[in-house]
Amino acid sequence: MQTGKINVQTENIFPIIKKFLYSEHEIFLRELISNAVDATQKLKTLASFGKFKGELGDLTIQVKVNKKKKTLSVTDRGVGMTADEVSKYINQIAFSSAEEFVSQFKTKTEAEMNAIIGHFGLGFYSSFMVSDKVVIDTKSYQTGTGAEAVKWECDGSPEYTLEESKRKSRGTEVILHLTDDSKEYLEEHRVLEILNKYCRFLPVPIQFGTEKVYEPIKEEGKGKKEEETKDEGTKDEGRKTKEIEKPRIINDTNPLWKQKPAELKDEDYKNFYRKLYPYSFDEPLFHIHLNVDYPFNLTGILYFPKVKRSVEIQKDKIQLYCNQVFVTDSVEGIVPDFLTLLHGVMDSPDIPLNVSRSFLQSDPNVKKISNHIMKKVADKLEELFKENRENFEKKWDDIKVFIEYGIISESTFYDRAKKFCLLKNTDGKYFTFEEYEKHIATAQKDKEGTLIYLYATNTEEQYSYIQAVKDRGYDVLLLDGIIDPHFINALEQKFDKSHFTRVDADTVEKLIKKEDAQPSKLNEDQQKSLRELMEKQIDSKKYTISFESQSEKEAPFMITQPEFMRRMKDMSMLGGGMGYMGDLPDHFNLVVNSNNPVIGKLLLEPDGGKQAATIKQLFDLALLAQGMLKGKELAEFIRRSTELVK
Ligand code: ADP
Ligand code: MG
Repeated sequence: MQTGKINVQTENIFPIIKKFLYSEHEIFLRELISNAVDATQKLKTLASFGKFKGELGDLTIQVKVNKKKKTLSVTDRGVGMTADEVSKYINQIAFSSAEEFVSQFKTKTEAEMNAIIGHFGLGFYSSFMVSDKVVIDTKSYQTGTGAEAVKWECDGSPEYTLEESKRKSRGTEVILHLTDDSKEYLEEHRVLEILNKYCRFLPVPIQFGTEKVYEPIKEEGKGKKEEETKDEGTKDEGRKTKEIEKPRIINDTNPLWKQKPAELKDEDYKNFYRKLYPYSFDEPLFHIHLNVDYPFNLTGILYFPKVKRSVEIQKDKIQLYCNQVFVTDSVEGIVPDFLTLLHGVMDSPDIPLNVSRSFLQSDPNVKKISNHIMKKVADKLEELFKENRENFEKKWDDIKVFIEYGIISESTFYDRAKKFCLLKNTDGKYFTFEEYEKHIATAQKDKEGTLIYLYATNTEEQYSYIQAVKDRGYDVLLLDGIIDPHFINALEQKFDKSHFTRVDADTVEKLIKKEDAQPSKLNEDQQKSLRELMEKQIDSKKYTISFESQSEKEAPFMITQPEFMRRMKDMSMLGGGMGYMGDLPDHFNLVVNSNNPVIGKLLLEPDGGKQAATIKQLFDLALLAQGMLKGKELAEFIRRSTELVK
């Protein structure tokens, strides 16, 4: 038997390993299992190159707990280790990474350490977080002298022992003698939980415990039996089943993202989505299968989920894997921000996961990967658009939030997205940016040559305004999405000489100024006296009264809200970009159409009471057209109107 000291300089390593980050203790199991998977893969590779000629046999990795002995063990049938290899890889190399960790520990914050340890930093030595003693019993795939089975033991002090082992079978068994604080890892449900979290898609089968399954009983020597049951029509009822215990394999060794897209059906992707998100009832709108091997390796499947308007958009649904080992589901900073709205999995050995998040965000490799993902997503969307525009339009209302968000948050995305990003008008027709520009180019240029995009945010509430604008031969876009106020700003910056104006931002004449406005027909005295009468009833702080000569058909009074003011208010409510500006008060314009015959009549009305009543009525009608007449005011308006009919 050989004994040795791991490293005299760092005697304090184990207390530190044991102590850190309680919440992350569970990763020890991930580390042990990924080592077992690595060892198995290595053996397979050796076999494929003819360097290992023996039987591979069943390569299933076994995870076992023994409550009596308080142990948890992971056993593989991989390459195993010789005594020299144990000395080298466990005592020296694995230890030096642990040592490096300790030296960093002194300078880093807890959160930064979390990222380091949490992501492969410590490997094998993380088992000391939960163990009093760790035993490695291993036999190399190699044969002959120097390749005998060995047993390594370490109780957490820097001393270890290495001795001959009686182990017969190739591979490695790592046995953890769990500390009293770590008894939870003796509980089947807890171990299963960790396995399901980190190991669900590992490439080598992992067995933990057994499960009960029901299998039909086959009656010996009766080939006909099968047919008979079918003929009965009640397939399952007629058939006898028996309960049997089977080894429970916890993982899917060939997850969908590793398979060839050409060999997969839509249904496969949907099933996989259900597997990833068993609590989601909606089907994804579509998926993108990522498969890149140059200049970096990246595979994955991204899903566009159905977003419900009323429900908060769910971020952090993407799961990140490193060679099929689950790493994290908080991918902020790793993928472009707008893609964090997507669902699915991404797998890359090239994302440096053993570093802190802030480092990740500034890593040029990550930036490249991130840009590449964005390009792939854009390509796929363009392809869908070109392949079947009708279908794309059907999905548009559901996917537009992602694309708009992309345009707002990533300037490079716009250049790709402009080919397939759609605008929808109030008639439900869809246009690309280019098509829409052509559509309104002649009618909607103002006298300065600025193209005015008119839009509504609610076809019901803004109905009368939309109608008035359409009567002029203008077109109205429907921009009713949650992030549309930001989207409009982004488009104004991208489009040349263009401006977006909501249909109720001004009177029809002035929404798109073709020529200088006609002066009001009313002379100054008339305006002054009407204004005085109006101000008796209308709050002049909230409404700025003005006089215009519009067509006779237009309403006598009309309420508008200047585009700029309304947008400031919308933006401050959304809290984006401009900072919080407090509760901005609403301010409106009240425009008197002096060409409407009612106004002339109103001025000539000798009865002061009647005059006041008419003003009130006209004002309420204007409020009504804006959807602003509510509650008590509305009830009184109805009562008064009924009186008038009498
Ligand atoms: P890493 O896996 O990043 O190399 P670890 O600390 O997890 O670091 O493991 C250190 C080394 O110990 C591995 O690289 C490997 O050579 C060896 N090793 C650990 N577990 C096993 C195992 N189950 N079978 C064979 N070798 C192993
Ligand atoms: Mg490892």
